[in-house]
Amino acid sequence: MAKLHLITYGCQMNEYDSERVAGLLREHRYELTENEADADLILVNTCAIREKAEDKVFSKLGELGKLKRRRPEVMVGVMGCMAQLHKAEIQRRAPQVDLVFGSPAIARVADLVAQARREGRPVLETGEGPLVKITARPASASRLKAFVTVMEGCEKHCTFCVVPTTRGRERSHPPATIAAEVRELVAEGCREVTLLGQTVNAYGRDLTPPTDLAALFAAVNDVEGLARIRFTTSNPYNLTPRLIAAVRDVPKVCEWFHLPLQSGSDDVLARMNRGYTHARYLELIDALRDAVPDISLSTDLIVGFPGETEDDFAATLAMVERVQYDNVFVFRYSPRPGTPAAAMPGQIPAEVKAARNARLLEATTRAAHARSARRLGETVEVLVDGAAKKNAGELSGRTRCNRIVNFDGQGRVAVGDSVHVRVTEVLPHSLRGMLVASPEEAVCSSR
Ligand code: SF4
Repeated sequence: MAKLHLITYGCQMNEYDSERVAGLLREHRYELTENEADADLILVNTCAIREKAEDKVFSKLGELGKLKRRRPEVMVGVMGCMAQLHKAEIQRRAPQVDLVFGSPAIARVADLVAQARREGRPVLETGEGPLVKITARPASASRLKAFVTVMEGCEKHCTFCVVPTTRGRERSHPPATIAAEVRELVAEGCREVTLLGQTVNAYGRDLTPPTDLAALFAAVNDVEGLARIRFTTSNPYNLTPRLIAAVRDVPKVCEWFHLPLQSGSDDVLARMNRGYTHARYLELIDALRDAVPDISLSTDLIVGFPGETEDDFAATLAMVERVQYDNVFVFRYSPRPGTPAAAMPGQIPAEVKAARNARLLEATTRAAHARSARRLGETVEVLVDGAAKKNAGELSGRTRCNRIVNFDGQGRVAVGDSVHVRVTEVLPHSLRGMLVASPEEAVCSSR
């Protein structure tokens, strides 16, 4: 078998795309290797969300250029968002690259690799292709948990974002196709799926007849043997009462909701073209907590968006205090070429972004720790996924509300089991606990 080395930058969608590419190429006799020096084919899956991510890719391509000078037979390919956006720049700055292809061409990766080998010249494939459901996965992929793409693309056009350009318009896979994929995964041992889409809660409106994520939850919930359903990423604009009710009522849907806010300032939200105000966002949070009081909430925030004043930033801090998120991902605004925000006046100096980033992280960490501390003494349901990272003598898993729990259970429970654990210690990034026999009083547990 030939050897494939994959280097992945960026988001969960990219990790998932890399898995799919490895699975597709496995069918063409490529096996994965961790060692790039052994590889016959190296694919770099790229992210264009931040400038730093792009710099890393060009630096990596420089290193791979040296490898290729020693071993000219090695093929190097670039896929993902940068491939879609910057193919000309990639060709100019990294002429050693043999293959550049965007996400819509993933289904044809094996043909593209063969074409580049056959023709001995760079192959560039970055147009829009037909929507193809790819279910191939590498042999090494986790069997216990899996990502399942339910839709591709996004039509929101937030002014800072390149996704609508790199991934194209919204296109949903039919519910029957998704349910069939989940059934196959469960037959191979999967217990938890994460339904993925850039705006996953816009799922289904492009289908004939139209459907929605709530209906998809019901279809996936019916798959026997599956324990948990997660989904990401939602957009507040598309969050409906019907979806909130489904999160409450569909038993396998976990009590965990990632709802990007981006900014607490209405002026900034308008310039971002997000389609909601901070008051509307709070209404949604209140509705989620009314429906599922114990729900775990996480969000994405951007600091230093063009024109962000100290008052705008204070409004974001106030939202963090008000919502009390369980987890927050803070990003410093980074202009992406070709997006409207990149040309906006009032670009914020790096040192101001850094200072706001630090203040926001401090506030979000404090709030998250206070939320975690509430778990002390509670009994939580944990899906066991392996040995604890820092202590191989302990087991580790996640609660339905997505917290890591480490506990002593070796020999008594196995990977893939759902067990009940009483929380005895709250640490900054995890919980510790003791295995208990009874699920009495379990919070965050199957309903
Ligand atoms: S909704 Fe998300 S993916 Fe779509 S444009 Fe906005 S930030 Fe980008």
